[in-house]
Amino acid sequence: MKDTRRTFLKTTGLLAGAGLHAPFRPDRPAVAAENAMRTMRYASMPKKEAVLWQQEVRAKLFDLLKMSDLVADDTDIPLELEMHASRDEDGYAFHEMEMNSTPGRRMQFVATTPTGREGPFPAVVFLAGHGGTRHTVYGERGGYYHVGRLLAAGGYVTVSANISQHAVYEAGRTNMGERLWDLVRCVDYLLARDDVDPERIGSGGKSLGGEMVMWLGAMDERVKANLVSGFLTSMDQMEQNHCMCWKFPGLRELVDFADIYSLIAPRPVLFQNGVDERASQFPPALALEVFEELAVTYHDFEVPENASLVAFKGGHVVHVPSVLGFFDQHLRKSLKLVPFAERTRL
Ligand SMILES: [Zn+2]
Repeated sequence: MKDTRRTFLKTTGLLAGAGLHAPFRPDRPAVAAENAMRTMRYASMPKKEAVLWQQEVRAKLFDLLKMSDLVADDTDIPLELEMHASRDEDGYAFHEMEMNSTPGRRMQFVATTPTGREGPFPAVVFLAGHGGTRHTVYGERGGYYHVGRLLAAGGYVTVSANISQHAVYEAGRTNMGERLWDLVRCVDYLLARDDVDPERIGSGGKSLGGEMVMWLGAMDERVKANLVSGFLTSMDQMEQNHCMCWKFPGLRELVDFADIYSLIAPRPVLFQNGVDERASQFPPALALEVFEELAVTYHDFEVPENASLVAFKGGHVVHVPSVLGFFDQHLRKSLKLVPFAERTRL
């Protein structure tokens, strides 16, 4: 087993409360300050300052998510892995797994490992949306429902976990914090595998799965490539016609989604948005607006090419060819261009 320490958390702990870029609120009564919205909104700044802004926002978000105890002292929670079942598929093995999430809670997940190939392998955590389970992306229904299988057969180690729960498992936690922590643990699991290249871990997902890719990429810098399908939006939009599980106390006062996406910079992110998405759901015009906001951060990091948006003919679905192209581009060690037709047959 390799070292799985989450060193990214140390720096956030050190900087917590440092007060960098605290909003200037001259002579305002305290109550007004408490009600202020999006106080940590990203504004263009030099790269060095942007890194400090990211560290401060992460520390504040870990507090709001009620995860600070899990991340504060680089807690080493043993994985204590169990494999409940395993079967051979075409080109990969499919495993039903269980491990420790927190010291008091275990979680189930799926892992696939390539067969007949030599590691180290790139790896992807791929997630379904609302109502989905850890099995959804390994389905037989085509499209997004088999993206996990396409990646597994294409030589990636893949992992999927349940993120659709709306109950809080442990006292003193938040729903979003528990979903995110389980994904951090999936990254811990990947890093503990000797056959996974730690520099080539990505994550992808649709809708709620895309939202969780946002959170994982924002808060865990070990994730090097981020694919968000159907969740490039604003909090104002999500206040209506949507499940409210995205929201928790203090979030809106601190940031909007564009700011959380800004925490992923400079690491690559690809957004997908169907042009037929309904106005009440994830309209493409709003996606473009939010994209332009977060693109400012990528410009400040001098890698504007690392954030892109694919608008495709379709609704609230995954654009499968660009999922595969994105991960191949960023996570394959040597990219061999595969003709499009061949790629879609994978
Ligand atoms: Zn929900």
